[in-house]
Amino acid sequence: MIDLKSMDLPQMTAFFQELGEPAFRAKQVFSWLHRGTRTFDEMSNLSKPLREKLSQTCFITAPVVERKQVDPKDGTIKYLWRLGDGSCIETVLMRYHHGNTVCISSQVGCRMGCAFCASTLGGKVRDLTPAEMLDQVLFTQLDAGTAVSNIVLMGIGEPLDNFDTVLRFLELVNSPAGLNIGMRHISLSTCGLTEKIDKLASYRLQLTLSVSLHAPDDATRSRLMPVNRGVGVERLLEACRRYFEVTGRRISYEYALIDGVNDTDWQADLLAKRLKGTGSHVNLIPLNHVEESPLKPSRRVAAFQKRLERQGVTATVRRKLGGEIDASCGQLRRRRMQEEA
Ligand code: SAH
Repeated sequence: MIDLKSMDLPQMTAFFQELGEPAFRAKQVFSWLHRGTRTFDEMSNLSKPLREKLSQTCFITAPVVERKQVDPKDGTIKYLWRLGDGSCIETVLMRYHHGNTVCISSQVGCRMGCAFCASTLGGKVRDLTPAEMLDQVLFTQLDAGTAVSNIVLMGIGEPLDNFDTVLRFLELVNSPAGLNIGMRHISLSTCGLTEKIDKLASYRLQLTLSVSLHAPDDATRSRLMPVNRGVGVERLLEACRRYFEVTGRRISYEYALIDGVNDTDWQADLLAKRLKGTGSHVNLIPLNHVEESPLKPSRRVAAFQKRLERQGVTATVRRKLGGEIDASCGQLRRRRMQEEA
């Protein structure tokens, strides 16, 4: 069976040409699929024989809401979706004054092994397909009854570890025949795969690249993030500098503050020293406590921020949304897996 929704428009055009259909057929079907249509029967501008032929050879992905949690205070919605093969992934809808942002997953589980992250506890099960990534945006919009204007790739998984799929996904949501969401409204967060950062730079996309740094020194970063071992902070920051040179887009750094681990004055000073002059921005995130982990949220968030700012590095503390609904990536899926076990 053919996964039509994962195709870009040129591929779909070639597909319909092979069926002996005119080129505009592709655009019609593309547009139905990108509106979240679940069956070929609903595609009323296609002939009955074509609809039948498509049902016999192609499938349309559509996740099912396994669980939905709404934060009563800020309206954040967290979805746990069940996919065609029974796997579960999470999507979060956050409401801001400037529009709705959806935080989506790129893999089922994750193999990066960060010590503070719930997504990585059961390892990686598989990569998502482009359609499964797109579906998170489409079906969140349909279920919540509201349009999404911004996308962040910060849910379960490491997007650069599923590189080709993520690139296709970006092309799909960017498409004028589909959701038409501009690259400047998209952020991609990575744990810092240096070769993939260079590869991404070569596409010169206007998206925002966020790098999860979490420590300025190798001992701490390697302890928290296995991906740092054998690479080191210096080489990561060099890749980030190259990224900025090639794309002209400044990188933003994520820094989850953990009590007694990465929130000391000397680490603030080292971080400031390493980022000074790059024009980069640091997002300080109060750690979301994960049950299985001994790591605790820092009590020095404001002091750490002040110390960075005093040394010329701009830092903001991320506003906490969905604090009442397990909104830290991977926690809902983790809970569901435990219930099933
Ligand atoms: N794999 C990518 C994207 C997914 S994680 C990455 O590493 O960037 C999205 C962000 O949430 C990352 O910055 C990650 O480090 C952070 N994060 C994960 N678990 C967290 C927790 N328990 N508390 C705070 N931030 C967390």
